[in-house]
Amino acid sequence: MTVRVRIAPSPTGNLHIGTARTAVFNWLFARHHDGQFILRIEDTDVERSRPEYTENILEGLRWLGLNWDEGPEFQSKRLDLYKNAVQILLDKGLAYRCYTTSEELDALRTAQQEKNQAPRYDNRHRNLTPEQEAAYKAEGRSYVIRFKIEDDREIVWNDLVRGKMVWKGSDLGGDMVIARASEDGVGQPLYNFAVVVDDMDMKITHVIRGEDHIANTAKQILIYEAFAAEVPEFSHTPLILNLEGRKLSKRDGVTSISDFKQMGFTAEGLVNYMTLLGWSPPDSTQEIFTLEEAAKNFSFERVNKAGAKFDWAKLDWINSQYIHSMPLDKLTDLLIPYWEQAGYQFSNGRDRAWLEKLVLLIQASLTRLSDAVEMSKLFFTETVTLNEEGSAQVKQEGASAVIQGILTALESQELSENTAQEIIKQVVKEQNVKKGLVMRSLRAALTGEVHGPDLIQSWLLLHHIGLDKVRLRSALTVDC
Ligand code: GLU
Repeated sequence: MTVRVRIAPSPTGNLHIGTARTAVFNWLFARHHDGQFILRIEDTDVERSRPEYTENILEGLRWLGLNWDEGPEFQSKRLDLYKNAVQILLDKGLAYRCYTTSEELDALRTAQQEKNQAPRYDNRHRNLTPEQEAAYKAEGRSYVIRFKIEDDREIVWNDLVRGKMVWKGSDLGGDMVIARASEDGVGQPLYNFAVVVDDMDMKITHVIRGEDHIANTAKQILIYEAFAAEVPEFSHTPLILNLEGRKLSKRDGVTSISDFKQMGFTAEGLVNYMTLLGWSPPDSTQEIFTLEEAAKNFSFERVNKAGAKFDWAKLDWINSQYIHSMPLDKLTDLLIPYWEQAGYQFSNGRDRAWLEKLVLLIQASLTRLSDAVEMSKLFFTETVTLNEEGSAQVKQEGASAVIQGILTALESQELSENTAQEIIKQVVKEQNVKKGLVMRSLRAALTGEVHGPDLIQSWLLLHHIGLDKVRLRSALTVDC
């Protein structure tokens, strides 16, 4: 048997972290079994589906490296398939037209509420005579198609994550609506029906999705049976929770993959972290791995039943590991859009070679790609504002003379890594001061701060774009 799994997002919003994590598990399972991973866009909800969301979903999956083998298939292009499937169930007597009006349904619900009963359809139109149907039609009533669910049915499946699952037919809310009448007469299939028709048609062997779909699975199994089709395996993955243990929502900061990208997470870091949201590798101390490595070890035996807590600190740590070990060339490519977005100009000597040196300078301090904006600001602006410590430093006794000494030395020497060290030694000697004073004053004048990345490299970078002397001169004008 070839494993065939799918991710079936609805384009009613951007690619959500929960959907993306489900996609990760599907992808890992497919790759582990040399199977196929299929992408299906569930866009039957015409009111809420938007092409820009489809674009965002495709882009997000691609960015994360979750390449698919088939699709994207669009449900909106498959309406005939669902229509035929509805007809089959009608012909078999397993589905029927229900003409109950929304007012009648409201009244039913209210009566049930008054009796403290769970809301359910009472199957009242299950056995209409042709005359009754004709009468309702004549009244101008519209209809939905309902699929019969027997109350005494027991639905059992062996969930790959949760083990044996048992549901009672009586807990499924009565005969379920599988399609609505639509103006074009084709009929608008509903999620639980279209999903089964598609999963049958696409020969899906394993349905892997979030645990919020468990009740749907019970209903869907009945539909497979109605078509005498083979029922796939089901695997319900744990929800992603915030640190307080509630379902991760917009209130927790971000929920879509494009937001995470914008916030400066790398695709590799984010996808690595998502893999650990509910799954752990056999060597549970291993935290950094590629998707391919995870796929080798992936199985549902190591997927937790309990919700997976979303831990920003851990995501940051994983992300920083990827950034710190990234080739300079690639990291530079990734940082350029963040700098551009911040309005930084690559003029006056800020060429590719210079940018790569800047990246090398800050690489080890980055947690998120977006940190590069603040960290490299001083290399993209003409002047720096000295912070409190920086300003105190340049006002310190002897600092002005040191800075003046450096400026004088720069007049007669071309700056390089070697001469930079020489100049510092020379000033220490000439002025008979501690090296620390020279280093701190130089740093404060150049960067405005007394802490920061490698001083000599920072100086060289500033020198290349003609800013070192400007800054040194301006530090001399700070009031004492
Ligand atoms: N369109 C459904 C969703 O986005 C798909 C669920 C499923 O995988 O069956 O939740």
